[in-house]
Amino acid sequence: MKRSLEEINDLGEAIAVKCYNKFDQLLSHGKPSSNEWTHLAAFVSVNDNNQIEILSIGTGTKCLGGDKQERGTEGCLLHDSHAEVIARRALMRLFYEEILNEHNSILIKQDKNKFYLNKSLRLYLFVSYAPCGAAAYLSDPIKRPKLEHKNLNSIGEELYLKPGKGYATTSLSCTNKINRWIYQGLAGNLLNQLIISSIKLTGLIIQTDKDLSSIFKNIDVICVNNQFSYGPSLERIRPCSMSIAWWFNLSLSSSSITVDGYLLGLTKKNRHKQKYASPLAKCSLFKLYLQLMDNLSSTETSYAHAKTLSSNSLTDQFMLNNPQWIRTDPNIFYAFTLSSSTNSSS
Ligand SMILES: [Zn+2]
Repeated sequence: MKRSLEEINDLGEAIAVKCYNKFDQLLSHGKPSSNEWTHLAAFVSVNDNNQIEILSIGTGTKCLGGDKQERGTEGCLLHDSHAEVIARRALMRLFYEEILNEHNSILIKQDKNKFYLNKSLRLYLFVSYAPCGAAAYLSDPIKRPKLEHKNLNSIGEELYLKPGKGYATTSLSCTNKINRWIYQGLAGNLLNQLIISSIKLTGLIIQTDKDLSSIFKNIDVICVNNQFSYGPSLERIRPCSMSIAWWFNLSLSSSSITVDGYLLGLTKKNRHKQKYASPLAKCSLFKLYLQLMDNLSSTETSYAHAKTLSSNSLTDQFMLNNPQWIRTDPNIFYAFTLSSSTNSSS
């Protein structure tokens, strides 16, 4: 169905308002204080009647450094807590839960362990600001870092690492990550084993006054005016260190809050126990994956091994097109198994 520009812009503004309203309904826990700001990202579905549903929400501004912090964490640590990455992990959680609970409104079952995105739904990613990396630098050239960056591919897309506390992290910018999701779908390699055709975004909705369509190609980019009241401003001068994650299956009073990559309030001795990990951590999503694969009794399966089982031609093609892409080192980041003590609780 062809939609007019006016309809598309109205839809974008309506989605922005709905995302802000949903955020307002969440408990104040994890939200910025009066002099702090944060960013908001949300994955949203729109059906044939233009009904909007918020599937997942993420807030956050922080990213931790790389491999040194990862060792020994048993997949419990969230390195990248930028809003888009949190929202996307929450969306993956929702997908896993949909399949496990056999409640299929978004992912429709074709046959055993084969699913596809409900054909009456379109998926959008909303972000309350221009995503970090090339999109942010096009919006505000003054912020362009002196840090080195690479040309990612033959069409001149730029690869940026996220800044940490005075150093570059090993996490790629949200602009780079979003472009990868646009290309190869949202599900990730593990979940993709169960998905018939990759789960693609219909469009990006960005609160900005700049045209970012040269950065995000091959997708509708809708710019909206409605501003997030918790974004940076003259009063809100410091980034909030906490991240909120919420997804459709949670009540409004039970969002998940992390700080420094761990659940808020977790004592140091419990940080690397998988049963206390954030529901969005690698080990937590891996547990859902093993449940789906009916394989939970096998605690021998390492995350790294599971990743190698999933061959995805879109991933391969993406890597071929983007030879400079920074691959996650599986020997460091994927070197954990699911400990049996996580099996009893969720
Ligand atoms: Zn970012």
